[in-house]
Amino acid sequence: MEFTSLPHPSPTPDAERNARIADPGFGKVHTDHMVVIDYDAEKGGWHKATIGPREPIPLDPAASVLHYAQEIFEGMKAFRHEDGGLAMFRPEQNARRFNASARRMAMPEIPEELFLDAVKLLVQKDAAWMPPVEGGSLYIRPFMFASEAFLGVRPATQYKFVVILVSSGNYFKGGVNPVKIWVSQDYVRAAPGGTGAAKTGGNYAASLVPQAEAIKQGCDQVVFLDAVEHKWVEELGGMNLFFIRRDGSVITPPLTGTILPGITRDSLIAMLREEGLEVREEPYSITQWREEAESGELLETLACGTAAVVTPVGTVASPSGEFTIGTGGIGQMAQKMREQLVGVQNGRIEDQHGWVMRV
Ligand SMILES: *Cc1c(COP(=O)(O)O)cnc(C)c1O
Repeated sequence: MEFTSLPHPSPTPDAERNARIADPGFGKVHTDHMVVIDYDAEKGGWHKATIGPREPIPLDPAASVLHYAQEIFEGMKAFRHEDGGLAMFRPEQNARRFNASARRMAMPEIPEELFLDAVKLLVQKDAAWMPPVEGGSLYIRPFMFASEAFLGVRPATQYKFVVILVSSGNYFKGGVNPVKIWVSQDYVRAAPGGTGAAKTGGNYAASLVPQAEAIKQGCDQVVFLDAVEHKWVEELGGMNLFFIRRDGSVITPPLTGTILPGITRDSLIAMLREEGLEVREEPYSITQWREEAESGELLETLACGTAAVVTPVGTVASPSGEFTIGTGGIGQMAQKMREQLVGVQNGRIEDQHGWVMRV
């Protein structure tokens, strides 16, 4: 599909852009352009692809997304390599997962090629927004929503696929900090047969109250247990978990439909196996977590996802008290995995898996 390039009437002046990307933080320094591709079942599907100025999207007040939440998204990053080139990390996995999410939400799939073309085009267009800081990246947010003006309850016939970018700094400014997490008692993130494996906004909406509760309890993040037995550890609001044990085994909760299949998770499984560890995808209970932390059998717990890469879990808190993992600090494996992953992403460590795609 050909992208029509729409002129930007007033791109950000160089000096202003440079000032804004000098210390961008996360999620607030938006770039100048966006990609929009329209879908209409009556016009043969995907059509009219544009790359143009980033601007508000006109939306009918009856647009289905505003009422029934037909929406999905992805989160990925582009990096600058030392040779000046740009690269993305396993973007074809994001394209594939986007379509898996689309199927669950009764939305049309987008050809993987088109998804990748859209992302690459935008990254090239706004490459000047790459922050010139150690650990900086362009965070890429592709998303799709139902735009049809129709209040009946059924899958919409019209959608918009949009890609935007934010300039982001090092998540770990001032070093990696272990997180303290709160075990949600009254809320679950996903139930069997629900939408937990889809990257859809509704999952996040449902996690905001428990996340606020975690903050109120002096924690950074919330961890969810399974919806049926309230016993098995699933994941954080937006990160998967790994339990590193003294006997050389590593456990990560299995993908049974209630857990988001993280690309960082998948990459870590491969990397930990290459370290000689025995990685098993099997259920891990909250009791086991506490007991193994207390006995010293559990060496580390890692939380992982695109935004924060690999973060150690230091402390776990619940109404029945709290427990500390290892020393409560940054474990050896957390450090090692983070350095390796970041190294491959920014091109300083050889990419032995074919994970890096040059843009
Ligand atoms: C996106 C996401 C993750 C992490 O996935 P990555 O592909 O590693 O970024 C984990 N859990 C949830 C709920 C998510 O939405």
